[in-house]
Amino acid sequence: MEKRIQIAIDGPAGAGKSTIAKIVAENLSFTYIDTGAMYRAVTHKAMQQNIKLDDAAALESMLRSTNITLKPSSKGQLIFVDNVDVSDAIRSNEVTANVSQVAAHANIREILVAMQQQLAANGGVVMDGRDIATHVLKDAELKIFMSASVEERARRRFADNESRGIKSSIERLREEISLRDKLDSEREASPLIQAEDALFLDTTELTINAAANAILKLAKEKM
Ligand code: C5P
Repeated sequence: MEKRIQIAIDGPAGAGKSTIAKIVAENLSFTYIDTGAMYRAVTHKAMQQNIKLDDAAALESMLRSTNITLKPSSKGQLIFVDNVDVSDAIRSNEVTANVSQVAAHANIREILVAMQQQLAANGGVVMDGRDIATHVLKDAELKIFMSASVEERARRRFADNESRGIKSSIERLREEISLRDKLDSEREASPLIQAEDALFLDTTELTINAAANAILKLAKEKM
């Protein structure tokens, strides 16, 4: 019988993680878990409630009384906060611009990481984020660190935004992505970094299917 392994995919914004992780999960009949959506959901609720995003204690008390649930759907993972579907709302420019500040708080990470570990406990998961291989699923059988040039990542985000009807400019996206990379890589709590036992995958020149197939091949070896 094939083993229901854990696959961890980390990397900077726009590297193709979620698109590729979804395809891999679907092919293996695994669950896809987008951890970035969880940090975005916390940010979205805090902004709605006018909670200061540098107030770690206030954010924690909000989060402790918040119900976050993930539900798989044909469109990918849906995310509900207190039973309201916020899957589209968490992709707004405002949330994107502020999420790294919220994700830098160690106390917020601790709560979300515990939820993520619980979701992955039975294996059969593809989880993407920034600290999956280094912290959340340290024993994952397959660890991938995915990246691409900033220019290519900005182009992808632009196309993605267009398809969602979100207005943006490539130049602004480039700046936003570079800033978010810097904040995510330089923070003290679980910074974005390649795990020693992760394989590096540069997707700049790869099609989505080529990248997904490369991961599927590695996964099947591990299973
Ligand atoms: O993956 P996505 O771009 O939606 O993630 C949004 C933000 O959430 C990241 O820029 C990062 O600040 C934070 N994040 C994190 N750890 C994760 C996933 C996301 O800090 N595992």
